[in-house]
Amino acid sequence: MTQETKKVQFVVKTSKHCNLRCRYCYEFAELGNKNAIALAQIEQMFLNIASYYQNLDFPIEIEFVWHGGEPLLQKPDFYWQVFDLQKKIFNYENIQVRNGVQTNLTLLDSQRLKLLKEGFDGVGVSIDLFGGLRVYQTGIESQNKVLENIDKLTDANIDFGCISVLTKKNLDFIPEIYSFYREMNLSARILPLFKGSFENQHQGFEITAYEVLEAYKKLVDLWLADDKFVWISPIYEAIKQVIYHYSPNAPTSFYDKREWESIYIVDVDGEVYSYADAYAITHTHGNIFNQPLADLISSSQHQKIILEAEERIQETCSQCKFFGSCSGYPIAEGNRQYNEINQDGSINCIVDKGIRQYIEYRLFEMGIIDVNKGEITLDKFNLNSQSSPSLAYI
Ligand code: SF4
Repeated sequence: MTQETKKVQFVVKTSKHCNLRCRYCYEFAELGNKNAIALAQIEQMFLNIASYYQNLDFPIEIEFVWHGGEPLLQKPDFYWQVFDLQKKIFNYENIQVRNGVQTNLTLLDSQRLKLLKEGFDGVGVSIDLFGGLRVYQTGIESQNKVLENIDKLTDANIDFGCISVLTKKNLDFIPEIYSFYREMNLSARILPLFKGSFENQHQGFEITAYEVLEAYKKLVDLWLADDKFVWISPIYEAIKQVIYHYSPNAPTSFYDKREWESIYIVDVDGEVYSYADAYAITHTHGNIFNQPLADLISSSQHQKIILEAEERIQETCSQCKFFGSCSGYPIAEGNRQYNEINQDGSINCIVDKGIRQYIEYRLFEMGIIDVNKGEITLDKFNLNSQSSPSLAYI
């Protein structure tokens, strides 16, 4: 029997430096900082990561997601050298390496186009489509350039996905955003605004958890009314989970951070964080430039972080009807900004639970879920047959 491949992502902050000054950027205070990870540090990081996974007796896919700032401000040669190092260091039968990049796609010369086509396995493009918040230092909008470069990616047959950030400025354009991705045959992640890097940064375009939920409900309605399959995250995953919840013998999934951690954020200085605690120095797992990953994983600090995530799941998800189809990942690792903390310390899972409840309501209303027959009656919901989309990264 072939063993299941386990996946892990390292989101590596190559540098915080960026040619844009998107108004909501959570790295805003650092966008002028040109410090970048040196190749020697990357080599050390790879050695520290490989020494852990090489000893496991099952197949592992390690995906490095090169992030910033704007990661394509680095010269393409930097990444070609990174890929060479990977070939040398991750030369183990059980390890497969992939590389993705999350870019603002404003810097696309022929060398970078070649890098995206031949070097990276996945490309994520940041574009909001409405709102005018993604601007250059001059205040001029970057979007026309990005759209122009999206056409270049398409012409060059480069597979890519997009991320759009939800703010008050594009909240009223959900149908248009959906139509754009539909017409362009692109996969997309629609993410709520992330906490800013200083107080009042989001003044004028901040959104509440309930507004995020309303936007997601609109996306669900658009998705359900469409005869075409459009890969919109987190809607697609939520629909799939509700379907699973009502399907006999559907697989269950419980997020177990202690057993397998699927995503690490690596800051420019080598400090490693869980996504939920990114940049909280009290919650660093340790430094991957000078400590083997095995030491980081077993550190008392990391064990405390695991315990906290487990407690969040225990207090919140164990009471939730969707737990098992939803793994509890949103509460363990997700953006806590959009959840309410109750007096007893439990978390009110407003967006993730709310959207699953809404999907459940809609599927019943449409007669798609038939509890008596245990059937799902729309071909579109044969979700396992959908191939994986090109990923957009956090
Ligand atoms: S919907 Fe929210 S509360 Fe329910 S299992 Fe998922 S993360 Fe936990």
